[in-house]
Amino acid sequence: MSRLQWKSLRSRVERTRHQYEPGYRSLDQKEWLKMHKTVFDKILSGDLPADRVYEDDSVFAFRDINPQAPVHVLVIPKTKFARFTEISSRPAEETGRFFSAVSKVATFLNLDSSGYRVVINNGRDGGQAVEYFHAHILAGRKLTWPPG
Ligand code: 5GP
Repeated sequence: MSRLQWKSLRSRVERTRHQYEPGYRSLDQKEWLKMHKTVFDKILSGDLPADRVYEDDSVFAFRDINPQAPVHVLVIPKTKFARFTEISSRPAEETGRFFSAVSKVATFLNLDSSGYRVVINNGRDGGQAVEYFHAHILAGRKLTWPPG
């Protein structure tokens, strides 16, 4: 996908999202978000477009609309839960499959030799904006530490 195509896809998604989810960024609207579909639910169901990079039975991976590195891919489980906090009460097999898939996506993107970072934001202070559990894969430049 060219830069121009990606820009146009991105502005289309932004317009659609604001139409359906005017309060999507506010964590104060947690209850509202729980009751309604998040943008990632809509991407998974095909109601919102996304630049898909990988998919299997249990995960869906697509490029972040607002990339923070040359490679910025989001990986979501097809079985939805909201936060990393919930991992401890999920079946170990399911979470094992998820993290194994994240590693597979990175390999698929040819990132193994150059390296990459996997980030999971959890809750308000963790900077989680979308209440659908997801992992970020960031790569393509030397990432700094500590994160902001
Ligand atoms: P969080 O802050 O919740 O960990 O990350 C949410 C990520 O989802 C952000 O990096 C944001 O740019 C990305 N995002 C939000 N809405 C969309 C969308 O509609 N499409 C795509 N591809 N990414 C999105």
